[in-house]
Formats: sequence, C-alpha cells, structure tokens
Amino acid sequence: MAKNHIMHYNMNLLETTVMPAFNKEQVLVLTPMSKFYPEYWDNLLTLSYPRELMELGFIVPRGKEGDEVVKKLETAVKAVQRSSTESARFSRVTILRQDSESVESQLEKDRHALKAQKERRSKMALARNSLLFSTLGPFTSWVLWLDADVIETPKTLIQDLASHNKAVIAANCYQRYYNEETKKNDIRPYDYNNWVESEEGLRLASTLGPDEIIVEGYAELPTFRALMAHFYDPHGDVSTEMQLDGVGGTAVLVKAEVHRDGAMFPSFPFYHLIETEGFAKMAKRLGYQVFGLPNYLVYHYNE
Ligand code: GDP
Ligand code: MN
Repeated sequence: MAKNHIMHYNMNLLETTVMPAFNKEQVLVLTPMSKFYPEYWDNLLTLSYPRELMELGFIVPRGKEGDEVVKKLETAVKAVQRSSTESARFSRVTILRQDSESVESQLEKDRHALKAQKERRSKMALARNSLLFSTLGPFTSWVLWLDADVIETPKTLIQDLASHNKAVIAANCYQRYYNEETKKNDIRPYDYNNWVESEEGLRLASTLGPDEIIVEGYAELPTFRALMAHFYDPHGDVSTEMQLDGVGGTAVLVKAEVHRDGAMFPSFPFYHLIETEGFAKMAKRLGYQVFGLPNYLVYHYNE
C-alpha cells in the first residue's frame, strides 16, 4: 500500500457488514475517561472481537486526577500490549490528554443537577469530538462508544450490535444494585438519553430561546418522551429493535461513515440538543436512522 510514502485507501472498499470479524473490519473503541475502573478494563478484555481488528482511544482530563487515571490506564495497556502473541494485542491504543480539567465536581448528585448539565455536557461533547477526530482512520469501519464506567457487557457486544447493520445502534444501559425492599440483588435503568421524541418534547423545544437546551431525564423539564430504559422486557427477544431520536454515549455502535459524513457531538445547542443527544439528531439530519436495543443490557458502575 505504501509506495513512495503515499498511502492509498480505497474508501469504497471499506465495509460495514453483519459479519465484521469474518470480514476483517476495524473497530475503533472510544472512551472518554475521568476515572479508571479495573472492572471496565477487565470487561473490555473479555470482548471476543479479534484484538488485531480493534483500536482503542481514550481521552483523559488534565489535572491531578487525570494524571492518576493515565497512570492506571498505561499500566493496564502495557500489560496487554507487551504480550508476545500478536492476537492478544490491540492493533493500536491512543491516549489523549484533554486541554482542560475535568468538569468541576464529579460527585454523581452534582454532575446530574440540571443546572450543571449544559456546561458539563458541552465540555463532554468537546472531549468526544477531540477523541473522535484524532483517532478515526481511513481504515476504520465502526466506532464503538463505550463509557469508562460501563463495567459489564456481553462478550460479543461488538458482533451483536453490528449484526443489526444499523448506522447507529445503542444498547440499553442498566445498573445492578441491592434492592432494600425485596432484599435481593436487582437491576434498574441508568441511561435515560436513549429516547423517542414526543409531541410535548417538540412543543417544549419550540418555546425555548436559540441557546437553550433540553436534557432528558429531569423532572424540571418534562418531555414525556418514550425512554428506551423503560422498554426493557426480561422475557423479550434480545434482538428487538426500536427507532430512537436521542442516544446516550454509554454503549453505542456507529458506522464510521456516519462520523466521516460529519456527524459529531455538538457542544452548542443543535435543535436544542447537545452532546450524544445532539449527535443522534445530526446523524438523522444526515439521513441516517438511529436504533436502540431495549432488551440488550449493559451495566453501569454503581457509585
Ligand atoms: P453519567 O454516567 O451520565 O453521569 O456521565 P459520566 O460522568 O459517567 O461521564 C460519561 C463518560 O465520560 C465516562 O466515561 C466518564 O469517565 C467520562 N468523563 C466524564 N467527565 C469527563 C471529562 O471531564 N473529561 C473526559 N475526558 N472524560 C470525562
Ligand atoms: Mn457514567
């Protein structure tokens, strides 16, 4: 391929198929990381997608906490990449340091307060964009967005999501917890950013000023949108699909062509949406369809 220092890539040969591993399609796994959870890393290592077809990209905030994260991440990465067998190594690992510190307080109750959302989500959008535009290669077929606190997924996550052959497809992110009422281990919805737009959501948006945003999951902003988190049916078919208008970033598989066409994470209000929810809107405006799998669960860390 490299002749006289010129690289040629035939983008028309770059495929996204329902059998990505068989067809040797490169998957770029992207994770913005403000905390290093060993459980995230262990789960990543259990994924059965061939590692030589997997690239990893991380973006870590500046500052002391970020330094700690980088240290732990580097140690984990080195242990794998020093492996003598090629098939045990990822094809490439990129760690980016953000040009800004992590968004103020990261305690769950603070970062979820509505007034903190616009600034926080817009900074997250910038971090995701930096990560995406610095790592997407001409050979990348798929991008898997996987949050650093998603600690449990089926090991066939990539194959399962890809088998639906959708431009954008999100898993349903739940959380394990101890249910005090039933005295049993239980699960509950975590990511409310996977949703179907509603009449009320549209009406609410129409009342907003140009710089105002709607973020899903807040009683202060009742949208009555259908949330994928509530469509989970433990007895249902795991491959059930539903069309979505907004997505979260916890575990989403995106065909690289969607990003290459220009769909990114708006850090500014885009149809009154930002970050991952704005991304879904942008993908749709580019002519792509966005889907979710209500019965296909992945699990978020319980702080
Ligand atoms: P939540 O689960 O919706 O409350 O959001 P999180 O705080 O878990 O953030 C989503 C993802 O972004 C996780 O992977 C975090 O580790 C990561 N993250 C959060 N804040 C920052 C930040 O300031 N910079 C970077 N690079 N990543 C961040
Ligand atoms: Mn999280």
